[in-house]
Amino acid sequence: MFDWLIVGAGFAGSVLAERIASQRGEKVLIIDRRAHAGGNAYDRYDDAGILIHQYGPHIFHTNSEMIFFYLSQFTKWRFYEHRVLARVDGQLVPIPINLDTVNRLYGLSLDSSGLERFFAERAERIAEIRTSEDVVVSKVGRELYEKFFRGYTRKQWGIDASHLDRTVTARVPVRTNRDDRYFTDVFQFMPKRGYTALFERMLSHPNIKIMLCTDYREIRSVVPHRRVIFTGPIDEFFDFRFGKLPYRSLRFEHLTLDRAWHQPVAVVNHPQSEPFTRVTEYKHLTGQRHSRTSLTYEYPSDHGDPYYPVPQPQNAVLFKRYEELARKRSDVWFVGRLATYRYYNMDQVVGQALATFKRINEALPLELRKRAPSRLAAMAEVTQI
Ligand code: FAD
Ligand code: UDP
Repeated sequence: MFDWLIVGAGFAGSVLAERIASQRGEKVLIIDRRAHAGGNAYDRYDDAGILIHQYGPHIFHTNSEMIFFYLSQFTKWRFYEHRVLARVDGQLVPIPINLDTVNRLYGLSLDSSGLERFFAERAERIAEIRTSEDVVVSKVGRELYEKFFRGYTRKQWGIDASHLDRTVTARVPVRTNRDDRYFTDVFQFMPKRGYTALFERMLSHPNIKIMLCTDYREIRSVVPHRRVIFTGPIDEFFDFRFGKLPYRSLRFEHLTLDRAWHQPVAVVNHPQSEPFTRVTEYKHLTGQRHSRTSLTYEYPSDHGDPYYPVPQPQNAVLFKRYEELARKRSDVWFVGRLATYRYYNMDQVVGQALATFKRINEALPLELRKRAPSRLAAMAEVTQI
């Protein structure tokens, strides 16, 4: 009999498996229907021997010291600050839009205050910023919105930015200085030996058994267990009772070129007419040296594995109905990007899993003698996730 059956071996499931096994001393079976652990963060060496991310580029960044130190138990890190260029009107320019983006695109030599005026002259006044279009148009005006955001967003989501919650494009800031980093978080690193190695260490505990290529439906009535942690799509758990929640998918085209480098940075975005959204060249991320180079092209799609919850008001309403059902299941904890229908980054999922672990401990207190002391637990008490 397992104390816990954890469905999904991504960050949400693996963090909880590790916490429960090491801190509560309970037996965990973690399953995944894929042939590997790591969820969407899974990486592997391709045929050329180059470390690639199977499901597109994953860059770790967080402002939470607690989350960073928690993960540091399982990996060493490689300092890496992510930089992205966008191919716009035949040029490669920085995105997020900054001083160099505008100067290069329009052949200008503005300084920061000049760029502030440039934006102010073009920004549209919008009383209430509701949509992803509003966010950008109200900061930089329509022309830059159309060059950098309209096409990319249509491709990525299959819908116009004017129908998408403002939180989506708000992920990408606009700057008036020359800072060309994609993220400004305090901690920005790549796991030194990759994500899969990190997951292997996280899950290597005598109380954890891993079963791959296994769907929850196949084993839920066969393998005895007391409680469930579910990190798959919440609508699927409830047999789509209220209808399907939309999740956006991607098709990844991986290829290796017979030359050392392809592009100047790890990711080039293609917001204009190309059918793909971005191209990733992994050696920039990993620091690996190799005479060849491997890339991934991302083609958004409605079909395939669920990758992104789609932030739209009607989907939030539908999710709430599933959440109500979930609330009544005191034997099941729903965690992660798919089960809580939140467009979360890896660090947010880790934070959510650690917060869930705290709630599990409150709901199911262990006898004191069983509980292992933990410096991390003490930090979690004082650190806001
Ligand atoms: P997942 O990683 O999706 O894991 C869920 C697992 O559950 C899956 O492996 C799935 O196979 C399994 N599963 C589902 N249902 C079942 C079932 N019924 N039975 C058995 N197994 C099941 N975040 C960042 O911080 N930085 C980035 O740069 C970044 N880039 C990204 C790029 C792309 C293309 C995508 C799609 C995401 C990116 N993310 C990034 C987000 C990151 O992938 C997620 O935050 C994180 O992986 C979510 O972890 P999770 O455990 O919630 O879900
Ligand atoms: N986006 C865009 N153009 C870009 C980059 C981003 O229109 O060059 C929009 C797009 O809607 C995208 C969203 O901003 O889905 C969030 O971008 P992010 O890079 O955070 O996407 P993710 O890495 O999560 O796929």
